[in-house]
Amino acid sequence: MTNFVHCRGCGHQIHETAPTCPKCGAPQVIAAQAAPSAMAPLASSLASYGPIPWYRQRWALICIFLLFAPAVAVIAWTGELYYIARGTVKTFPKSVKVVITGMAIFLLIAAGSDEEALQGFAGMLLIGMAIGLSLRK
Ligand SMILES: [Zn+2]
Repeated sequence: MTNFVHCRGCGHQIHETAPTCPKCGAPQVIAAQAAPSAMAPLASSLASYGPIPWYRQRWALICIFLLFAPAVAVIAWTGELYYIARGTVKTFPKSVKVVITGMAIFLLIAAGSDEEALQGFAGMLLIGMAIGLSLRK
């Protein structure tokens, strides 16, 4: 019996056993067919965000971070934060979560303060952090 699945990268119909898409080259997860021992860890085998909730994906996280950084700190400590680099889905390390949390606390303090210099510094840190997250490979 021949079964076809849709490519995780481009949606093109490909054979279910194809390790990569012949059209776009994206690696395919053969979760249903692969033996459990042969399965790679989820994060390193995905070529797209797939079932990952939108608020755990990099660009949504950066937008949320700029709007309300503490929300990202909460998301970070209730699961993983994902981004795609070189065609695979990766997670931000714990050190990034710690920095995000530190930033969120600092921003809350700055927002509650009357010091304009502190608020300006917090704003610059916020933008710098967002750029850092968006450039991470
Ligand atoms: Zn494809």
